[in-house]
Amino acid sequence: MSKNFSLAPDVQIGPGAPLVLMAGPCAVESYTQTRAVAAEMARLGLKVLRGGAFKPRTSPDSFQGLGLEGLRILRSVADEFGLLVITEALGVEHVPLVAEYADIIQIGSRNMQHYPLLWAVGELDKPVLLKRGFMSTVKEWLLAAEHIARRGNTRIMLCERGIRTFETATRNTLDTNAIALAQREAPWPVVADPSHATGRADLVLPAALAAVAAGADGLLVEVHPDPASALSDGPQSLALTDFPDFVQAVQRVAQAVHAAMPQGSAVAERRVVQSAIA
Ligand code: PEP
Ligand code: MN
Repeated sequence: MSKNFSLAPDVQIGPGAPLVLMAGPCAVESYTQTRAVAAEMARLGLKVLRGGAFKPRTSPDSFQGLGLEGLRILRSVADEFGLLVITEALGVEHVPLVAEYADIIQIGSRNMQHYPLLWAVGELDKPVLLKRGFMSTVKEWLLAAEHIARRGNTRIMLCERGIRTFETATRNTLDTNAIALAQREAPWPVVADPSHATGRADLVLPAALAAVAAGADGLLVEVHPDPASALSDGPQSLALTDFPDFVQAVQRVAQAVHAAMPQGSAVAERRVVQSAIA
């Protein structure tokens, strides 16, 4: 059974398909900021623009996002450059509005077990990226995805974004085991978010390479034209000037991993063993 599906007529995700790079600022801050990232992505041949309009922030004093204005900016910039938009739906009440502007709906880590939200996006005819809860087991994550799938929407990308461990030197801990495990046990593609997994721009590339080597089909990465002035997650955002090297490195590793995998062998096989999570 193939887990691959189309995000757009020319964008496939899943094992064997080219690595899908979804990039953009943590939060949409302005038209100029978002357009700068989108222009560079188009130049690099990338297809999926990320950006938060409704932001889940730990502190109520932090920037909460531009809301509808952010959605409008994402859509107009993406249309100018022929990109797809992925953005987060923070609550059930936002789903119709976000679905009107976005091509892919993101469910945030904090909302992984917000079942009414999962049911709402399960009714949509749009791909959903489901982030793993930072305190959730792989089994809970796959069962959360099943809540979406049972409503009819099976275009799901699982996203490993780092979990909370005893380690405080990094924001979270990238669980590469989970990437490999979800690839084998779930009927959906798996992507990784090395930005939230590490919290440090200088660790984003090595974490991304590890995720790709572990079998990730795509990456969700935060990129900002001026990380020092970012309104959210600046420390983990790649500078736009560093982004071309990042893209080249992850694409090279994706190709090397593909070439290195002995086709059909037990070590390479990404067998879907649904009974393992039942
Ligand atoms: C994000 O991708 O901007 C985000 C808020 O991520 P997470 O839900 O993983 O914290
Ligand atoms: Mn962020």
